[in-house]
Amino acid sequence: MERIYIGMGSNLAAPDQQLRSAIEALGLLPGTTVAGVSAFYQSDSLLPGQPRYTNAVAALDSSLAPLDLLDALQAIENEQGRQRLERWGPRTLDLDILLFGERLIDEPRLKVPHYQMHLRAFVLYPLAELAPATLQLPDGQRLSDLLTTCPFVGLERLTQSS
Ligand code: ATP
Ligand code: MG
Ligand code: MG
Repeated sequence: MERIYIGMGSNLAAPDQQLRSAIEALGLLPGTTVAGVSAFYQSDSLLPGQPRYTNAVAALDSSLAPLDLLDALQAIENEQGRQRLERWGPRTLDLDILLFGERLIDEPRLKVPHYQMHLRAFVLYPLAELAPATLQLPDGQRLSDLLTTCPFVGLERLTQSS
């Protein structure tokens, strides 16, 4: 079993419900348990003109191989109506693998750690609810340091996650 962190986001078709459905689907994956879910956050879209996002992070303990997990996440995205019309377009559901144990993965379809997680407040702040502040990325960067360089801007923590 390895500890995996999944970044979740939605800004279409009842985003909070999309995340709740995704968490349920994650719990049904083979060899996988949901060890924790952060609060839900609302964040401004990185691109102008889109609805605000609901974001959260889930911690999984799983024996799935990384590419099998990616396939499963994409299947959940598809089941929840994800359409890929434009890069970074509005979406019903995005499930990104942030961290996979201490692995560094550089496959054409899968880069772990997620290439922009260290820059995204809507990833780092929910992650910090689940992971110890001493957590280190495979390159040695500490979560606590990433938080100090990533201001809590454009983000609102919602009181209820489910
Ligand atoms: P961003 O990656 O900037 O958050 P996005 O999540 O909207 O953008 P997607 O359209 O969901 O991008 O995914 C594009 C491709 O990224 C996927 O087809 C997948 O193969 C690849 N990918 C690479 N690394 C990861 C990862 N760590 N988690 C999820 N997908 C990844
Ligand atoms: Mg994404
Ligand atoms: Mg994605």
